[in-house]
Amino acid sequence: MITIGNYVKAKTPEEAYELNQARNSRVMGGMMWMRLGNARIKTLIDLSELGLDQIEETDHVFKIGAMCTLRQLEQCERLREEYGDGIAEAVRHIVGVQFRNQATVGGSIYGRFGFSDVLTALLALDTFVELYSGGIIRLSEFVNRRPDKDILLSIIIRKGKRKFRYESVRRTKTDFPVIACAVVTGIVHGRESWYFTVGARPMKAALVERKWQIAKDVSEGQISAYAKEIADEFTYGTNMRGSAEYRRHLAEVLIRRAICSILAEG
Ligand SMILES: Cc1cc2nc3c(=O)[nH]c(=O)nc-3n(C[C@H](O)[C@H](O)[C@H](O)COP(=O)(O)OP(=O)(O)OC[C@H]3O[C@@H](n4cnc5c(N)ncnc54)[C@H](O)[C@@H]3O)c2cc1C
Repeated sequence: MITIGNYVKAKTPEEAYELNQARNSRVMGGMMWMRLGNARIKTLIDLSELGLDQIEETDHVFKIGAMCTLRQLEQCERLREEYGDGIAEAVRHIVGVQFRNQATVGGSIYGRFGFSDVLTALLALDTFVELYSGGIIRLSEFVNRRPDKDILLSIIIRKGKRKFRYESVRRTKTDFPVIACAVVTGIVHGRESWYFTVGARPMKAALVERKWQIAKDVSEGQISAYAKEIADEFTYGTNMRGSAEYRRHLAEVLIRRAICSILAEG
């Protein structure tokens, strides 16, 4: 059970940060995960009045406020135009619509959950996090940091012509994924680059990058070899949802499918 002493709606990010420095303070996102835990919270800090619930776009970036819900991510037309169905595909299996209307992007990324579809998807893109105290850092760096008392303000995705695919396998609908993969390709500094993330291994998502120039008429055998090479780069573990060996096999299959799908698009 969770016990909360004081509830404060922060008026500014500074206030939220200051309050959060106390040992028993916690920031709340949608509370969907936190409410299932056991904790005595002295001060619960609500960020909902800080205007962090918008997806903004400039010429160069998408800026997703930490309090945006997973449903906003799923329904954002501009993200769909830019990255196809991949972003919606990454979140649409998460529990149900009512749940996704409450769970936040900030809580999902701050939590750095091993099973996270959201983290797996966003890590494959050119993504940064904006922290109140820590400034703007790459998501790939943030993911390996220990949780601290900073406040996550937004997620920033740098634009660029990228193709994005997301695939996951679940034993039953709405369960945690057994494995989750994202594959992204684009031209970076004039060279074709491929980005692969695999999450729910069951460890949290990790990223592998390759400067591959894959011809459109590449053989199926060569694509399989690429997929095997990438799947072998990650470590896998065993839990009640699947063995390490099964997960490695699934990752290879999903990566191969995603590469084929991107190449077919041309
Ligand atoms: C039953 C269930 C099934 C789920 N299934 C999936 C799934 O299949 N795939 C998937 O990807 N996810 C899944 N999730 C996770 C879910 O999508 C959210 O990631 C999770 O609920 C956290 O989001 P929240 O907004 O509820 O955060 P909260 O529960 O409010 O907070 C989570 C943590 O993040 C901290 N936090 C929140 N916001 C901030 C911030 N702005 N700055 C600093 N710290 C912050 C909190 O203090 C807390 O430690 C599941 C969750 C549940 C409960």
